[in-house]
Amino acid sequence: MDIQEETTNLQEGEPKGRELSHVMNGSCSFWWDNWLGVGPMAQYTVVSNRFNNDKVSDFIEDGQWNRDKVIQAAPHNQVHNILSTQLQAIRGKLPTNEKLLRFGIEPGVCYCCYSPGLDTIEHIFNSGNFAKQVWKYFANSLGIQTDYLPLRNMIMRWWSCTYNNEAHQLILQVIPIFICWNLWKNRCAVKYGGKQSNMARVKHLVILDSFKLLQTKFPYISWPLGWNKICTLLENCTHETRVTTIQWIKPPDSWVKINTDGSALNNPGWIGAGGIPRNQTGEFILALSVSLGQGTNNQAEIEAANFGLTWCVQLNYKNVILEVDSQLLADWFSNKAVVPWAISAHLQKLHQLATHFTHFKFIHTFREANFVADSLSKHNHHISNP
Ligand SMILES: [Zn+2]
Repeated sequence: MDIQEETTNLQEGEPKGRELSHVMNGSCSFWWDNWLGVGPMAQYTVVSNRFNNDKVSDFIEDGQWNRDKVIQAAPHNQVHNILSTQLQAIRGKLPTNEKLLRFGIEPGVCYCCYSPGLDTIEHIFNSGNFAKQVWKYFANSLGIQTDYLPLRNMIMRWWSCTYNNEAHQLILQVIPIFICWNLWKNRCAVKYGGKQSNMARVKHLVILDSFKLLQTKFPYISWPLGWNKICTLLENCTHETRVTTIQWIKPPDSWVKINTDGSALNNPGWIGAGGIPRNQTGEFILALSVSLGQGTNNQAEIEAANFGLTWCVQLNYKNVILEVDSQLLADWFSNKAVVPWAISAHLQKLHQLATHFTHFKFIHTFREANFVADSLSKHNHHISNP
């Protein structure tokens, strides 16, 4: 893979190098600016068109040299030189000062280090003092060797490391990219944004990028915020793939299990409740589907549970299992989450209803196992609201 290309693609509208866009798009004079790095074109000819106001961009069409125009107008001994200049190379690559060499401009000093080196790809991303420290920080924490290698080899070293699990593998793959990207952002922030080069910021952003990626890719693992803690977890956690069969399970003998669910057309909006009590053989005793008027989806969940339990109280069931698929409702019921005041009265009622039974269990299940209650809760929308 071409690292340079890859990093370029990540640019997201960052400064692309004023000098280069100036050559391509606007005011760079075809005759009088040293855009090819061989001095002004005007010095290679005595014809009078060199006094025209031609721009380099006048000779480019759809990203290509207009061959005819170049051959017709340019000094004969420079035609080959011009046409062999890859426009893609001018346009697409990272606009480091190194690139400006081809326009005859000396590479300047870098924007990253306190005792500056040259503003070259290798310096910005790898060999510069600033870059080296950043690489070292991350390499040390993941047990990767830190002796000097050219950038490409350095990245290959990261990519060929042995890993303990999928998350570890992912991090080894993306950290080099995040490092390069944030080194580049740092450099551009200094060059174009008037900021100070800041190593803590670069490290922080690499960690933040990694943290967000891990959260997105492995949402069921609670990732710690500190980098060292993340590394410990990466090295120790074994990633198990578990296949769980999700099914509704019958209640034990002499128990009734009621599944409830709330639904909301919009949140807030029209809400409905569904519930289905079933006995130990799995037969349903009755099915509830009611409209609850206007409210929030959380309100729908809790009111559905209350509605179902009220039925169970009225039918004089003694041993009742309430099963819902709302994790939030389960957490509220067991006081694991703070209850919003708007529904605290509903929750109180739920606790109070539960005291009517000799035995009561509250179970949280997967949505798939609560399918009937879910359908019932939505059913009333078709009946009661157009
Ligand atoms: Zn530097």
